[in-house]
Amino acid sequence: MSSQDLRRVFSGPVHQPGDTDYDVQRAALNPALDARPVLVAEATSPADVRAAVTWARTHDVPLAVQSTGHGTHVPAHGGLLIKTSRLATVLVDPDRRIAKVGAGARWGDVVAAAAPFGLIPLSGTSPAVGVAGYTFGGGFGLLSRTFGLAADSLVRADLVTADGDVALATRDRNADLFWAVRGGGGNFGIATSLEVRLYPVTEVYAGVTRFPVERAAETLAYYGEWAAREPNELTTAILLDQSDTFGIKAMYVGGAVGAGRALRPLWSVAGPPVAGGLTPTRYADIALPSVAPRNFDLYRSLPVDGLVDLVNDESVTGVEIKHWGGAIATATDAGPAAHRDVPFSVAVNGPAESVTSVRRHSTGGSFLNFHHDAADVAPAYTADNYRRLRAVKRDWDPDNVFHTNLNIRPAHHGSELVAAQ
Ligand SMILES: Cc1cc2nc3c(=O)[nH]c(=O)nc-3n(C[C@H](O)[C@H](O)[C@H](O)COP(=O)(O)OP(=O)(O)OC[C@H]3O[C@@H](n4cnc5c(N)ncnc54)[C@H](O)[C@@H]3O)c2cc1C
Repeated sequence: MSSQDLRRVFSGPVHQPGDTDYDVQRAALNPALDARPVLVAEATSPADVRAAVTWARTHDVPLAVQSTGHGTHVPAHGGLLIKTSRLATVLVDPDRRIAKVGAGARWGDVVAAAAPFGLIPLSGTSPAVGVAGYTFGGGFGLLSRTFGLAADSLVRADLVTADGDVALATRDRNADLFWAVRGGGGNFGIATSLEVRLYPVTEVYAGVTRFPVERAAETLAYYGEWAAREPNELTTAILLDQSDTFGIKAMYVGGAVGAGRALRPLWSVAGPPVAGGLTPTRYADIALPSVAPRNFDLYRSLPVDGLVDLVNDESVTGVEIKHWGGAIATATDAGPAAHRDVPFSVAVNGPAESVTSVRRHSTGGSFLNFHHDAADVAPAYTADNYRRLRAVKRDWDPDNVFHTNLNIRPAHHGSELVAAQ
């Protein structure tokens, strides 16, 4: 095996251990991973991606793909790391309300490109997160209750497959592949570009309003039943921390009057606010706090006392209870992302032991973008969707070439029905 073989057919930079940029290019957001690939290849075209896949297969070298490193959970030790960061072009078609984005684009790039047209994409909380990894992992953001998950707004993906071929995935072309990438992560091919829908939103009402912590339990209990009546234009979460107040985080797609009307029932239970509030904000400028999902679980109903007690443990720095539902729950013809009938998620920033008592009330389900257990991704899907994902994986990547990720293993040949595990 010689890196020269790859350099001959690959036009982007190729880095090996000892090269100046090797350490920068191999890094993921989580420094503990400390990946040691044999080569890092920065693709500058779909042809580069094809050449890299073919080279890795010819030399039997494990493959990994990375764009920003924000969602890398499995290090590319001893493998070829294909970087897509240089494929970062963003083109906006305001008439079709579509952005065509290179697989290395970050959400901040797309928000900035779409804003002059009065349009926005279904981005997440961080502008630094990559569009491809986010969208393939489902993509839950502040606009998901209103317009659906980011995966639901994927229109087209151009992919390089495990054979090194190109494949177009749309509703009409390779429909099984198109279904699978809308939530199945990077298991089915390396995207070189995507088309995503844009929405005509410029200004929203957003902010965190703080209330006395004594009202937290009653508010959370009310939230558990009021959420079903929450209008789709409103997105809310309850924030608990170590302070003597708790927060209601909210974003409303619309004006002040509508925002006030929509939030009034919840605020009236929480009592008079002691700080914060909502302000008109350009979507591009929103900066709402989030709790890092070190522990992430889904709930059909909220174990109120257990949740409020979590912050009595001083190792827990924050708890965020989010309501999903809305357009997420009613999406038709969606891919495999999410457990769409489950209304609540709870993110806890604390050690795993801190959530033991509340976790037994959870559904046991997860969401790929907030799932950290690379050994078992089945909880991110319904049993039917997971079974179907494994069958699509068998058809498009039977040798599990794309395995250095949150991996979906191929179903066994000849078995249509594989037990979800
Ligand atoms: C600060 C922060 C905020 C976040 N906020 C949200 C949020 O609001 N909502 C949400 O849903 N998620 C959120 N996430 C999770 C994030 O969406 C996932 O971690 C996602 O995988 C990141 O994608 P990436 O391309 O940036 O990361 P990378 O580490 O570059 O890639 C992660 C994985 O995505 C796949 N992938 C990347 N590029 C390609 C490609 N070109 N083709 C095929 N597969 C590819 C691969 O499997 C890769 O292993 C957040 C993460 C962080 C760190």
